[in-house]
Amino acid sequence: MEPSPAVHGIHHVTAIAGHPQENLDFYAGVLGLRLVKRSVNQDDPGTYHLFYADAAGTPGTDVTFFPWMRMAPSRPGAGLVGEIALAVPSEHLGWWSERLRELGVETLDEESRFGEPALPFRDPHGLPLALVGIEGEREFAAWEGSQVPPERQIRGVHAVRIRVRASGPTERLLADQLGFSLAAEDRGWRRWAAGEGSGAFADLFEEPGAHVGRWGTGAVHHVAWRVHDDAEELLVRAAVEAAGLSPTPVIDRFWFRSVYFKEPGGTLFELATDGPGFDRDEDPESLGETLVLPPWLEPHRREIEAVLPPLEVPAAT
Ligand code: ZN
Repeated sequence: MEPSPAVHGIHHVTAIAGHPQENLDFYAGVLGLRLVKRSVNQDDPGTYHLFYADAAGTPGTDVTFFPWMRMAPSRPGAGLVGEIALAVPSEHLGWWSERLRELGVETLDEESRFGEPALPFRDPHGLPLALVGIEGEREFAAWEGSQVPPERQIRGVHAVRIRVRASGPTERLLADQLGFSLAAEDRGWRRWAAGEGSGAFADLFEEPGAHVGRWGTGAVHHVAWRVHDDAEELLVRAAVEAAGLSPTPVIDRFWFRSVYFKEPGGTLFELATDGPGFDRDEDPESLGETLVLPPWLEPHRREIEAVLPPLEVPAAT
């Protein structure tokens, strides 16, 4: 039997931030994630590309940012990921609520989504986030250099929320080309799952009158879905192309290989391979400590370093 195309949950989510030091202070400081890679936007090497994850950079734990300091604020709406939900052990959600309040992060009321407790808030540049309490364990490596004790640390990206003007075409793509199945419905939100449990979810909400969202500071740029290897990436890519969409060729991102396409609702999707991984060019002990460039940008290191602001990783205590 032919293998059917399928992705295996979220690989990473990439968003647009303001000043990179404020971004670093929030994600590595307040949220306690590890800066696992300090690189540049490969299409715009005068801008950082900062990657935060668990200690090992496990696929599915990674949120990444382009800190473009001179962008207009985003306009939320259809065709953009409207929120990134991050998983924490449910017994520690109350501790997180305290921590955010003590650090001056305004939170909304805790709500229940698909039976899970969720605490919505925003990052310093307006990006909507939520901490969602999960039961049970998922693949995760605790970061000893975090301000957050290991047992309370963020376990990875839990779900992305997407508003669409018409859900049919997006849902057909999720089901037929990407291997998702409908897992649950809750007050108009439809949860599509690409695999089991936390980290597998695209939550869709159909809003026919929604205006179209626009990229800017505080917007999600794209969500990347996991494929195990190059062969699987090509299989899914072929299915997406056969469905009438326009995927890019495979692009070598050095730590993984990527294909990009817009789903029918307008949101930018990526396919990303699980490997080679963030330890391809750095010792696992010292991930993220220095500026890393892919080999083809290394000849331009001096010019690139000259335009990037210095960064200081928040201390563990
Ligand atoms: Zn990406």
